[in-house]
Amino acid sequence: MENSRLVAGYPRFVTPEFEPFDPVELLRWTEEIVCRGDARKYTAFYATGVYGGIGTGYAVGCCLRCVFCWVEFSRDFPELYGKFYSAEEAARRIVAAARHYGTPRARISGGEPTLGKEHLLSVLQHIEREPRIRLFILETNGIPLAIDPDYVHALEEFTKIHVRVSLKAGTPEAFSKKTGARPEAFELPFKAISHLLQHRISFHVAAMSLDPRFMSPEERTALMKRLASLDFRLLLNLEEEVVDPYDTTLKRLAAANWRVKWPLRRVYTPISETLRELLRQRRQRS
Ligand code: SF4
Repeated sequence: MENSRLVAGYPRFVTPEFEPFDPVELLRWTEEIVCRGDARKYTAFYATGVYGGIGTGYAVGCCLRCVFCWVEFSRDFPELYGKFYSAEEAARRIVAAARHYGTPRARISGGEPTLGKEHLLSVLQHIEREPRIRLFILETNGIPLAIDPDYVHALEEFTKIHVRVSLKAGTPEAFSKKTGARPEAFELPFKAISHLLQHRISFHVAAMSLDPRFMSPEERTALMKRLASLDFRLLLNLEEEVVDPYDTTLKRLAAANWRVKWPLRRVYTPISETLRELLRQRRQRS
């Protein structure tokens, strides 16, 4: 088994006895397992209907351990899954999947796409030269972009990317409980958002904040205030999500001893809707 020294202490699932980890350390460990020069491990290349159709490379490895994560167990056992693909080969396969589906959109999914900076930047260079791809959606939990401001700077050269930063929680304690990471790491995704604002990169924020089973009203208010403190417009474009009962999600929730009722019966009103309505009323009054 490769990297057996790392694998021995490698965090898998969040459990009630789980010791919170440093996500930056987990990031480095994971990169040692899933990255090799400009190559990264993938388990599949395909296209799917999300975003109106998108060519996808399913990459291995993440630096968080979200209890509601839907990703295959390649997230938890990266040493056991996937094959290495050079950036050129990965880009070629993602483009081929998109072409076959008839979509001009592409992405990396299945783990944290920004692990392996050399690989990702090289994939983006290939995508930039590929006329059949018009949009590359860069999904991220924000941690790799937070700890390396040069990473965000390097993204400036790409004309086709749109970044989607996904937030998991509204307080440091909830972040730790939901992701397994230390509470101090809660700030990192917001730091990534600051870098993106500073470098004027096209992006929006998504949050697991529509589902009352995973976010209390108080935590949700704290999250909205934190985002508004960076830029009020982030709330107007906030994409709020609910947890879906994938098999992998149910197993991770069970491991963490989270008791959740299905089906979901009630969701919050999206903050973007509430704010747009308030702005409309204000315009009418003035
Ligand atoms: S939900 Fe996303 S950030 Fe969280 S563990 Fe899964 S892949 Fe990583």
